[in-house]
Amino acid sequence: MSDTIKLEAEDSQFRSLCYSTARRIYGESLPDTVSNRLELELQGIIRNGNVTPYLMAHQVVKQMNSEGHMVTPRGSVGATFAAYCLGISEVNPLPPHYRCTLCKHSEWFNEVISYGVDLPKKGCPHCKGTMVGDGHHIPCEMFLGLSYDRPPNIDLKVPLSQTQAHKILEEQIESGQTLSAGNRDLETVLFNLDLFEDTTLNSLGLLSELTGIDPTTIPMNDAAVLSLFRSTLSLNVSPQQLRTDVATYGIPELQPVCVRTMLKELQPNTYSDLVQISGISHGSGTWEDNAHELIKTGQQRLQSVIACKDDVMLKLISWGVSRERAYHISDKVRKGHGITEEWVKELKENDIPLWFIDSCQKIKYLFPKAHAAAYAMSAVRHAFYKLYYPLEFYAVYYSVNAPDMDFELCLGGIEAVDRKLQQLEKLASPQDDKAQMLFAYQVALEMCARSMRFRQDSIEGYVIESNNRSIRIPVNG
Ligand SMILES: [Zn+2]
Repeated sequence: MSDTIKLEAEDSQFRSLCYSTARRIYGESLPDTVSNRLELELQGIIRNGNVTPYLMAHQVVKQMNSEGHMVTPRGSVGATFAAYCLGISEVNPLPPHYRCTLCKHSEWFNEVISYGVDLPKKGCPHCKGTMVGDGHHIPCEMFLGLSYDRPPNIDLKVPLSQTQAHKILEEQIESGQTLSAGNRDLETVLFNLDLFEDTTLNSLGLLSELTGIDPTTIPMNDAAVLSLFRSTLSLNVSPQQLRTDVATYGIPELQPVCVRTMLKELQPNTYSDLVQISGISHGSGTWEDNAHELIKTGQQRLQSVIACKDDVMLKLISWGVSRERAYHISDKVRKGHGITEEWVKELKENDIPLWFIDSCQKIKYLFPKAHAAAYAMSAVRHAFYKLYYPLEFYAVYYSVNAPDMDFELCLGGIEAVDRKLQQLEKLASPQDDKAQMLFAYQVALEMCARSMRFRQDSIEGYVIESNNRSIRIPVNG
């Protein structure tokens, strides 16, 4: 097959895969919001010869899923609806909306910040189906660039070692399923698509196996689950017992004390709140002397401060700034370059709020919303298992993280673990290994406080004994 014909075949396959998913979700006659966005992206990606990495990522995800593995992207590829349609990203970047799972009727909102995922389920006005909320409102320019021509660098997180992951890529290349002629060798491909090991996906895979609950079906608006991010009440334990005010021990990205302090102060109620907190906590110059002050003094709410790069562009556009100028300002602010004096003058003349300009000038780095949303989804899923399937959650935590800790000590119960934690907390500036050890004892403290215990001498790894609410630890554990 000639290069040209093969490229055309790839373009056609890309287009067909994206439209197939879009029509499955939104119906044969796509709403304008969906078709306009999809065409905009497809034309930009195809015109600039950037189809291959998307198709290849699609194949990798498809293969991994068929083997029972979850895959999630990092960075901002989730800003594209094409990536969502190809199964590369779970984050739907369209504006907030309701969609009927039966007749495909949809209702659209255009608020700047709120996410459709928070919307409560409701009955469809046209059939007996259920309307579910979706949409994160992420502009595709965040990944494709202002002219939709930026070469894609797609990074996927997989529950495999780097060596195993690259073997999968090599197999894809050898099979010739997706790569264009003239673009074969691994180095070139890795420039556009790379796979990274992520243990949180191992955790979710094991939890799915043990509980029979597919993580992708876990709702993002379960009130009891969301309460774990602001209090310990739903676990039926006190903050004094846990030595913390929020119940996020063992939840990826949300266990360090600085993040727990932020959660305590911000009291998140919704998934949207968690996305904001994820963005703020992964940014730099976003919290101290910035969003923190604005929220504490009542000038702004968690939902209205700048948490991600996308917020800057969308807010500016909503205030009447041109798309081009809004994009360039968001790009400068994201990298910590601030807004030029000339642009500040222009923004002030256009009545852009001073707090916003001031906030932009303090930012050193902004996280992409698509990535913040992926973290928030992962956090809610882990919290779900922790609340409803505690023994499975703790067994998987220790199995995957294999922490360097004294399980003999943990057999002594909550008092012994508490004493150990007090010693560890006194260690100034813990290094990574110390931090991991601290985390592991914190999880043990929570498990004991919830009336579960460790037992000795399993020869088959960490084994759950539901009858006596315990986890047997390995002989050499
Ligand atoms: Zn319907």
